[in-house]
Amino acid sequence: MRGSSAHTRRNPKHLFDHWPMVVEAVRSAGSVALFLDFDGTLTPFRERPDQVRLSEGTRRALAGLARDPRVDVLVLSGRRRADVKRRVGIPGIRCFGLHGWEGSAPAVSKASVAKLLHEARQQFRERLADLREIWIEEKGPVFAVHVRGATEDAARRTGAIVREVMGSFMPDLRVLPGNQVWEVAPAELQGKGATVRALLDRMVDSPLTFYVGDDTTDESAFSVLTDGITVCVGSRRPTEAKFTLRGPQEVRQFLERLGRELRANGGRGPQQPRSLAG
Ligand SMILES: [Mg+2]
Repeated sequence: MRGSSAHTRRNPKHLFDHWPMVVEAVRSAGSVALFLDFDGTLTPFRERPDQVRLSEGTRRALAGLARDPRVDVLVLSGRRRADVKRRVGIPGIRCFGLHGWEGSAPAVSKASVAKLLHEARQQFRERLADLREIWIEEKGPVFAVHVRGATEDAARRTGAIVREVMGSFMPDLRVLPGNQVWEVAPAELQGKGATVRALLDRMVDSPLTFYVGDDTTDESAFSVLTDGITVCVGSRRPTEAKFTLRGPQEVRQFLERLGRELRANGGRGPQQPRSLAG
């Protein structure tokens, strides 16, 4: 899908080189929807997902944005919702787990699909038993095969095993390839693009939309948001995103700049009540 898109970019522009455009867009916007991925975007990667923490600087910038009534901050992660909620832990920020499948309600799938997932997991356990650096993370209705920290050879062999095993489980189950990870999920998990579309449909006005993410699982959201300010974090190419930031450090700077811009522009958005707009 990605390769055939007319929007695929090999050289997205650096967001800070185009900051006047962002300023202009923020000035004329009534409200802002800020979609953010978590791992690799708000935080740097660690060897294991449970070692990942939000830095104080990023937390402060996010909290400031979340306090602004014009801004809706939404974190979309591949983690379980309870996990990402606990790691973000900022009042007013909405968190979604399993790429948005876990929203306000927990994700559940049919018993027949749960059985298939169980069988697939068993097959992976057996086939990966002698590859010691590879590990399987249980995420309820989804499981993840991690190759972070593994040798190139082990990662390649794991990729071949994923393709072989999954051949007999598709289309009921699907694979979401990520950064050093393959996630195996029921087909009903549609991914971040579908989630973003559904969330935007529920918003009353049409907000200025930002989406910042680093992973292949963020690409479906980039392609849905043709009018939005889409930002790919890191050096993965090609991408559907229009802009790029180098890493979580620059994402923090972006959040701070956006916060400053909104404060400078305080309460004068066109959709503010007239009595407040002065
Ligand atoms: Mg990520």
